[in-house]
Amino acid sequence: MSLKFPIYMDNHSTSPMDPRVLETMLPYFTEHFGNAASRSHKFGWTAEEAVNYAREQVATLIGADRPEEIVFTSGASESNNLALKGVAEFYRDKGNHIITTKIEHKAVLDTCKRLEKQGFEVTYLDVGVEGIVSLDDVRAAMTDKTILVSVMLANNEVGTIQPIGAIGALCKERGVIFHTDAVQGVGKTEFNVNAMGVDLASITAHKMYGPKGVGALYVRRARPRVRLTAQIDGGGHERGNRSGTLNVPGIVGFGKACEILTKEWRDEARYVASQRDRLKEKLFAELDECHINGAWGEGRRLPNNLNVSFSYVEGEGLMMAIKDVAVSSGSACTSSSLEPSYVLRALGVEEELAHTSIRFGLGRFTTEEEVDFVARLVIDKVKKLRDLSPLYEMAKEGVNLKDIVWAAH
Ligand SMILES: *Cc1c(COP(=O)(O)O)cnc(C)c1O
Repeated sequence: MSLKFPIYMDNHSTSPMDPRVLETMLPYFTEHFGNAASRSHKFGWTAEEAVNYAREQVATLIGADRPEEIVFTSGASESNNLALKGVAEFYRDKGNHIITTKIEHKAVLDTCKRLEKQGFEVTYLDVGVEGIVSLDDVRAAMTDKTILVSVMLANNEVGTIQPIGAIGALCKERGVIFHTDAVQGVGKTEFNVNAMGVDLASITAHKMYGPKGVGALYVRRARPRVRLTAQIDGGGHERGNRSGTLNVPGIVGFGKACEILTKEWRDEARYVASQRDRLKEKLFAELDECHINGAWGEGRRLPNNLNVSFSYVEGEGLMMAIKDVAVSSGSACTSSSLEPSYVLRALGVEEELAHTSIRFGLGRFTTEEEVDFVARLVIDKVKKLRDLSPLYEMAKEGVNLKDIVWAAH
């Protein structure tokens, strides 16, 4: 098979849709176009039936007791907003303290910032060099005003997996509601809302080979029953939790994506991890001065993630040199400045090194041929850029760069 360019290795940003998902969706754009809220005719019933089937498929993947615990949304940004704002508003009389981490997705962090403006207090926990929050830190942060803990299942930049089961057990013990942004981890690592004591979980279809613009919030209905204040008012859809006509084709596709993962995720994770390890081994066999960001190892990092900093290369130059490969870098370019990723900074990665980091996000459709091509390309380009770097040359000659007093400042 011949390679197609650019090669996609950015599956943490979004994933291509599985053809099986598309095929399942198609009839719901055309002959089954009904509104799932139409109760008086066949068009509505067919749509509602399809939505309820998808609800079961989603519930099964995450181990929910009942399909009614799935609230469909427009995606995980909305789910995170609904979880945090919905709990904060509903339980305001109980307390005003929320615990989260410094490496959450912006949809959690920015929601927390808004809640702070409304009088809530938020503790942002450190995660250390491993990029994993410590259970003791969560415990120590709890007060009698704590109403919610929100910790992601797996991080979208470094792929580190958080101790969700242990935090869930702690939250149960303290009677605190536990939300997890499960977007990156569901279907890639072990996840079960009951086994892990999760009360609220955000997921999104487009990170798991489904369509964009559809997601869900799992809302526990027993042991304990979690209540939310709705953030979108209207027709009272989704048991009053989220008004708005349902995106039936999207939901059908989401359900199918979940069904595929329920059956295939373990084999897929094994395959993807083997390709990811192949890429890592090739890079490290030929390049020195490479650093993996975050914890490494099964159960500690997603099978599809490799986040590496390449010392002594200029990040932007490297990204330009490998533009045949779609990856993300540790620099978040804003119009005014070149800021290093806040996640890498939270791991204590130095600014320089953060700028030279690359996130490889492999996926279901990544081939061995692609991995070999990407490894070769990155190795060649890093070597070439280092050949031009006086700093790399000095480091190789044994000069300790940290001891140098630069003359011209
Ligand atoms: C992509 C992502 C989101 C946002 O999901 P959307 O459906 O794109 O709104 C939230 N959290 C994490 C960890 C993500 O990777």
